[in-house]
Formats: sequence, structure tokens, C-alpha cells
Amino acid sequence: MKAIRFHEFGGPDVLRYEDVPEPVMRQDQVLVRVRACALNHLDLFVRQGLPGVKLPHINGSDVAGDVVQVGSYITDLKEGTRVLLSPMVFCNHCAACVSGRHNLCRQFTVLGNLVDGGNAEYIAVPRVSVIPIPDTMSYEDAAAVPLVFLTAWHMLVGRAQIRPGQVVVVLGAGSGVGSAAIQIAKMWGSTVITTAGDERKMAKARELGADYTLDHYKQKISEEVKRITARAGADVVFEHVGQATWQESMRSLKPGGVIVTCGATTGPDASFDLRVLFAKQLSLLGSFMGQMGELHEVLGHVFSGRLKPVVDRSFPFQEAAEAHRYLENSQMFGKVILQP
Ligand SMILES: [Zn+2]
Repeated sequence: MKAIRFHEFGGPDVLRYEDVPEPVMRQDQVLVRVRACALNHLDLFVRQGLPGVKLPHINGSDVAGDVVQVGSYITDLKEGTRVLLSPMVFCNHCAACVSGRHNLCRQFTVLGNLVDGGNAEYIAVPRVSVIPIPDTMSYEDAAAVPLVFLTAWHMLVGRAQIRPGQVVVVLGAGSGVGSAAIQIAKMWGSTVITTAGDERKMAKARELGADYTLDHYKQKISEEVKRITARAGADVVFEHVGQATWQESMRSLKPGGVIVTCGATTGPDASFDLRVLFAKQLSLLGSFMGQMGELHEVLGHVFSGRLKPVVDRSFPFQEAAEAHRYLENSQMFGKVILQP
């Protein structure tokens, strides 16, 4: 089969479109023909080199496609079913997994991180990862959903426990997690202040439901949040930008406020004044992916149309390097999709 694979870490040019062996499906697994696979920042980090990644490697966490073969141990899934795949990989038998906290499993990883992912024509996965999609949903839309909507749901609902009426600052409306977080926070009755890098993205953020939009290149986030909230500050800041915004995120919070973070796309080194942390009684919450129950819950809202996948554009597998550069330059609003 064809796949996008790399044999060394580095820039987009290490990506090769080449022949690789088809995956061997176990009898407790499902073989899926990949129709669309969304890009995430994780793909860029893995390509640049992360600990534990074995070479050669196939990226890709967000897969939609068709079931082509079902292992003999599985009785409730038919060939031809249109599906998306959970991006989470876990043992499914440890104390964390059986209590539903899959992202605390010691073997937890993301599809395409420590295991080969969906930038290939076929992929074999456990039954638990396979989730049928509505007939009316395109493969591109389905692939745009799992990682970012799960991540944003776990951050806001699972970790920060947002409540109606709260003010939530969502950084980076144009990112996949940002566009998901705006919609989830609105669905939970929050007032959403979001940031973007240009007027076009700010307009799109308002279409998704954002109440206020800031230009993060021209406006100082904490000052604008204070102005909008009549000096009160925000209840929750949804972080994934990291080094470039961390100070501003902390300054934007009201006493007792919460930063929840899932990433550090501008760099991992953040510093802050410990006196601000305790005197303002702030909470800093880390978040990584989520739980299978949460994935099913958020997908229910996507399948019913309350939450909408945001697809920017698709690239064929052969143009994977171009797609990586497009994401790296933050040109997108929403998800960038690769298709075989
Ligand atoms: Zn486990």
C-alpha cells in the first residue's frame, strides 16, 4: 500500500510518499481503508523528533474511512461501515483504563505518535477505536473531529468544569482545538472571548459563536479581557499556545481563575510569579487527550449537528509536505486534511 512515511526526523521534506507493507490485522482488530486523515500539530512535533518514536514512521491521528475486514473475535461490526477512529491508544485492562480514565493509562499514546498512524491506505485498530459515523457526514468532516473535539471537551468540561455564565478565553480561534473550544464553551453557556491573527479569522470565529474577538498581534489580551469584563477578568483561559501567551493568560484571570492547557506550540518555557499563583488562588491544569466516554459524548453532539467540524482544506497524500508547511505557517482556520 501507499503511505506517507519518514526515515529521519526533520523538516517537511523528510516526508516520503512510498510503498509500505500492508498492516497485518489480528483477529481482535478491524482493518480500515483510510479515506481522510486530519493533520495536527502533533504530526509536526513527531516529524521533528519526539522521544520513543521509531523510524521509519507513519504519522496521522485522526482517521475516517471504511471497514474492509473484521477480525473473527468481533461480531458487531460489518464490512463497508463508514467509521472514524478514536485517536487514543491504551491497554484497556489496567486500573486507569477499566475506570474509564484512558488518558492516565501507562501505555497511553496517540495514534501516529508511538505507533504508526493513518497517513496510509490501510490501518488495523482494536474494535474499541472504531466508531460508525452518520451517512450524511463526509470523510473529511469526520476526520476533522476526534482529536481536537475530544481534547477541547476534556479540557473545558472534564478538567476546568465550566459552568453557564462563565467567561472563557479561547486562545487561537483558527487552530483545530480553538475552533472546537469556542463551540463547546458556547454550548455550555459561557461567554467566549477568543483571539486570532487577522480579520478573516476573527470573522470566522464570530460565526462559530465567539462573543468577542481579539487580534493577538495588535491587542494586549489581558487588557482587552479586563476591558470586556469590566475589570473582573476571565474564569477560564483555554491555553495551547504556551511561551508566547502564558504571562498574558495568567494576567487575564480573575481571582480563583483557571488556566487549562494542552499544548505549547510556541515553546515550552513559561515562567510566572508564584506570589500571583497563591495570592490570586489560581489553578493551572494540564490536560492531554481525554477518555473514551468523553469522545462518545462529544461525538453525539457533533453527529446531531450542535457542534460542527471546521475543515479548512484537503491535500492529497502526495502533497503532505506542502500540507505540513501550511499548518506550520498557521495559514489555516480549522483542520487541514490529507487524503489518499
Ligand atoms: Zn490501560
